Amino acid sequence: MDATDFIRDKCLIDGKWIGADDGSSFEVTNPATSEVLTSVPKMGAAETDRAIEAARKALPAWSSLAAGERAQMLRRLFDLMIEHKDALGRLLTLEQGKPLSEGVGEISYSASFIEWFAEESKRAYGEVIPGHAVDRRIVTLRQPIGVVGAITPWNFPSAMIGRKLGPALAAGCTVVLKPASQTPLSALAIGVLAERAGIPAGVINIVTGSASAIGGALTASPVVRKISFTGSTEVGRELMRQSADTIKKLSLELGGNAPFIVFDDADVDAAVEGALVSKFRNGGQTCVCTNRFYIQQGVYAEFAEKLAERVGQMQLGDGTAEGTQIGPLIDDAAVEKVEEHLADATGSGAKILTGGRRSDLGRTWFEPTVLVDVDQSMLVSREETFGPLAALIPFANESEAIAMANDTEFGLASYFYASDLGRVWRVAEALESGIVGINTGLISTEVAPFGGVKQSGLGREGSRHGLDDYMEIKYLCMGI
Ligand code: ADP
Repeated sequence: MDATDFIRDKCLIDGKWIGADDGSSFEVTNPATSEVLTSVPKMGAAETDRAIEAARKALPAWSSLAAGERAQMLRRLFDLMIEHKDALGRLLTLEQGKPLSEGVGEISYSASFIEWFAEESKRAYGEVIPGHAVDRRIVTLRQPIGVVGAITPWNFPSAMIGRKLGPALAAGCTVVLKPASQTPLSALAIGVLAERAGIPAGVINIVTGSASAIGGALTASPVVRKISFTGSTEVGRELMRQSADTIKKLSLELGGNAPFIVFDDADVDAAVEGALVSKFRNGGQTCVCTNRFYIQQGVYAEFAEKLAERVGQMQLGDGTAEGTQIGPLIDDAAVEKVEEHLADATGSGAKILTGGRRSDLGRTWFEPTVLVDVDQSMLVSREETFGPLAALIPFANESEAIAMANDTEFGLASYFYASDLGRVWRVAEALESGIVGINTGLISTEVAPFGGVKQSGLGREGSRHGLDDYMEIKYLCMGI
């Protein structure tokens, strides 16, 4: 099968592929070429309510399977995703724009969560607690929370789904998924493979369309016991507010504003390598992408020069073309945000070492850029740029670096390069973030707990902790 064989123009509700009630649809385009790939249903609250009902109906049978039986189906889904990773990766690149190697890599990463949680579900142990009285025995059970509403973004059209479906289904929950409107095809492709893997009707329902109507129906429904969302802090706040009336459990993976600190005792060449992957992966459009570089004065000039040289050599292009390292940004608004941050910084004295403009390739490509003489007050330091713009801020000492790194409402990822062991521990403990990359720019893996503190979110995805977010603890007190 190739990428186009996985394209679907219908949604999956209760095991059936259907259109919107009123027949309306919207186009999905390739951000590199503006070519229309297909149209998908523009659904709203009525269709979402039916998807919730399908998930409710499917819940008893799914949750009462033995964990090993669910695990076998999830394992089949994992195998199918890996078998078709080239086609799925190409489809992902067509709708999202990232280089093909990253698209295919994302499919493996997405599938890894399905595999991990299939295995982990068999170890959803309860416990026996020594009773508080001689005639009492206390036991805990871990049970699936129920129907889950999952809402995912466009920057990882498959992986953000794998991260939610894996633990939800493994725990015994059923799901109504709303993928981002820019990238619904990778989601629908997972639906195709889930059916083939034998996952029963109603266990995974996929609804595309109006974000506010679908999000509104998911949050209003008392049947939906949990919302798992990855996206902007602004929408996360809104979903949290909307979930208050029915007291839902929430997992929120929201914005980041990741600092990347390079100390004088760092291996500068390694730090440049780490900076390249941490900043420019997916064109800078990930929530763990570095947004602010803090470089100690002793290595500032060397780091800036080496980074600019490597960034200047990065190859821009269509994600499907051989050798492309930077694809197009997702849309015009994304490019305009980079331009706004750049203009604000250069207007206040920052200098461009390389890049600094849209590419001749087309409207959605921005040249990877390195900026020096940036300071903490500039927009680029305050807000997530979500584009290929590296802003370098000098600092004098450790406490200053930590203070600047923590001077944000966000707390998802941070990175630092250093070699002194005492410093490594001090800085790792002081950084206010859920994830710290130490002498590495890549931190994502299904075996580790991914998540933020402060206004970057709630809950953890991946690792053995990831299952907890989809389970409740029930405690049995037995009088004997
Ligand atoms: P991004 O800035 O990454 O596009 P968003 O938070 O806008 O992040 O979008 C992430 C996901 O949330 C997408 O699937 C989007 O359609 C959805 N979304 C946006 N607004 C709402 C809303 N009001 N209610 C529910 N979902 C929403």
